[in-house]
Amino acid sequence: MSTLSRSFGLHKIVKQHYLSLAKGAECQVTYIWINKAGENLLCKTRTLEMEPAGIRGIVEDTDNFTLKLKMFVLVPVRMFRDPFTLDPNKLVLCEVLDGNYAPTGIKLSNQRSQCVKVMEKVKDFQPWFGMEQEYMLLDLDGKPFGWPSLGLPFTAGMTKNPCTVGINNMLGRDISISHYRACLYAGINICGTNAEAFPTQWEFQVGPCEGIEVGDHVWMARYILHRICEDFGVVASLDATPIEEKNHTSGCHTNFSTKEMRSKGGLQYIEEAIARLSKRHSQHLRVYDPHGGADNMIRLTNQSTTSSFQSFSTATASRKVSVRIPDHVSRSGCGYLEDRRPAANCDPYSVMRALAETLNDVHI
Ligand code: ADP
Ligand code: MN
Ligand code: MN
Ligand code: MN
Ligand code: MN
Repeated sequence: MSTLSRSFGLHKIVKQHYLSLAKGAECQVTYIWINKAGENLLCKTRTLEMEPAGIRGIVEDTDNFTLKLKMFVLVPVRMFRDPFTLDPNKLVLCEVLDGNYAPTGIKLSNQRSQCVKVMEKVKDFQPWFGMEQEYMLLDLDGKPFGWPSLGLPFTAGMTKNPCTVGINNMLGRDISISHYRACLYAGINICGTNAEAFPTQWEFQVGPCEGIEVGDHVWMARYILHRICEDFGVVASLDATPIEEKNHTSGCHTNFSTKEMRSKGGLQYIEEAIARLSKRHSQHLRVYDPHGGADNMIRLTNQSTTSSFQSFSTATASRKVSVRIPDHVSRSGCGYLEDRRPAANCDPYSVMRALAETLNDVHI
């Protein structure tokens, strides 16, 4: 164990004493918001006199860090239980608005505000989303976690299957387990997790949720992941291409359905939706990573288990396509489609908005 990781461990044990100190009815609320680049999260904590009954009981605050010249308002939009300091404390996801209460714009972080409007327009379709968030565990030097000092038989060009067991195959299960439980405590609709193809790569799945909710839950699940990784002295990278070996990439497959697709005979609507998606491939790729498609250009070009960056493809039960119909959906004749193009660092709100607009022909 390095000096650095030993000191992380020491701090965590000492911290338990302070967390066990008695306190009154005060509630610590951690405000969490998306940074200007739309890729990372920021947070700060405030004391409320008592536990809020709901999101309306949480006062707005200001982001006085991002841009010193302008004032930004943090508007609480969804409240979760705090799995780090426990009840009654809260984690609160916030939208960032400017001093005039306008969304901070395309170039800034608030994609949620527009997404909410689109979801409102398409709500009669009852759109459900489910996202599969992949991430790579790294050490502070940017190399894969535990690499290569443990001398495990990992080689640069290796390919392995997901879902493996045993420390000769994967590293970091403690993080995955802790994250899963913390998300359940918080109230996140997390539905599963698995080890991914690279030894320090993992995935968790959120959903299905209707409308805007999955975006909120994925962002909060990302926050919880980063916090847990602080405790373990490891870094969780959501980069699309996190390590030098460019064939090991991370995605955020996005699953989508409408009420019609989920009902008997829904396959027909799924196929129609895929036909629509095929006509707007480049528009979607522009918003499927935070750099206008540049990250996916590298990811999709170097990876064998997704699709081409240049052209749209589809099939049932294939991993090498842009959008697939899961095998069980094809067999039961209804369900959902899986868009395999979003990168791990995508903004879920941008992906959800693009899907809802294309599939329902709604533009605002
Ligand atoms: P894969 O086989 O592609 O690895 P996973 O099991 O990892 O699939 O993830 C499946 C995802 O599909 C989950 O995020 C789940 O919430 C989502 N999902 C399940 N049913 C629906 C549905 N009807 N509409 C939208 N998403 C759904
Ligand atoms: Mn200050
Ligand atoms: Mn998956
Ligand atoms: Mn995966
Ligand atoms: Mn998938």
